[in-house]
Amino acid sequence: DTAMYEAKRNGRGRYAVFDPGMHERVARGLVLEGELRQALARDELFVVYQPVVALQPPAHGDGPRRDGVEALVRWRHPVRGLVSPAEFVPVAEESGLIVELGLFVLRVACLQFADWQRTLGAAAPGSLAVNLSPLQLRSAGLIAGVQACLTDSGIAPQVLQLEVTESLAAQDEAARERLRELKALGVRIALDDFGTGYSSLACLHQLPVDTVKVDRSFVSHAETSAYHRALIEATIRVAQTLGMDTVAEGIETASQAALMQALHCDRGQGYLYARPLEAGALADWCLQRGLRAA
Ligand code: C2E
Ligand code: MG
Ligand code: MG
Ligand code: MG
Repeated sequence: DTAMYEAKRNGRGRYAVFDPGMHERVARGLVLEGELRQALARDELFVVYQPVVALQPPAHGDGPRRDGVEALVRWRHPVRGLVSPAEFVPVAEESGLIVELGLFVLRVACLQFADWQRTLGAAAPGSLAVNLSPLQLRSAGLIAGVQACLTDSGIAPQVLQLEVTESLAAQDEAARERLRELKALGVRIALDDFGTGYSSLACLHQLPVDTVKVDRSFVSHAETSAYHRALIEATIRVAQTLGMDTVAEGIETASQAALMQALHCDRGQGYLYARPLEAGALADWCLQRGLRAA
């Protein structure tokens, strides 16, 4: 107990119980943290983009476009190769580096999006989603940082969608107030990984969000589990009642896509359509899709 208290006081409370596996993770985490700091300076981080596609026909001819891309960070480590964000984003969050890293992703993605608008014209993606971490949402410079990215890239605030996780948005009034400040800039907010947190459909009406992203774990069970299907249906119903739109994450098969369509989900994202792509490949994907549609 005393040891744990000391460890917490020393600022790394989550590693307070020392089993060998955990020791290894701490050591690896610390190494990663140092290397991640250098990665930012050495241009080892880059951004990939995964298409988000419309699952429903447009309501009226000139409604807001439903298609877009989500920006996802990647780290090409000189020795380890590609390191998964599932591994380094938590390290960045723990060390505070996520604030700088997140702003880097936002800036790169906004500039890239503006470039697509110039070079692809009508074939350019309709919106840009960027993930915001809990620490980033709380950081003092967030609003100014987002505003600067909008100004410097020249993209319309309405096309930018910031993704926050469900538990975060529901957590406290300060977080919700920060979301309202972001919305005042004109940007949109999406609730990421919905269904995996502790909040519920009952809280959705309190959250200043525009979009609900149904977590991949629900989509992957939808065809075999009536329970998961019912939860997806209820989520979509409640979201629509509140004027929010919905995205199904992690669609991998045509039958999953058909089911999400039948459940009136607005948009879909997943390997069925495309994996996250580097900027050039994403432009090719958009052009090919445009040609097919024509
Ligand atoms: P997320 O925001 O929920 O992003 C979706 C993740 O699901 C991505 O993993 C994407 O590659 C993956 N995915 C998409 N479609 C499919 C599919 O059909 N099947 C499967 N199995 N997976 C699919 P990724 O890129 O590894 O990112 C993992 C998580 O790391 C993200 O989850 C997000 O929470 C975090 N992350 C990634 N980039 C950033 C970033 O720039 N900032 C912050 N704060 N977090 C990020
Ligand atoms: Mg996301
Ligand atoms: Mg997600
Ligand atoms: Mg997810």
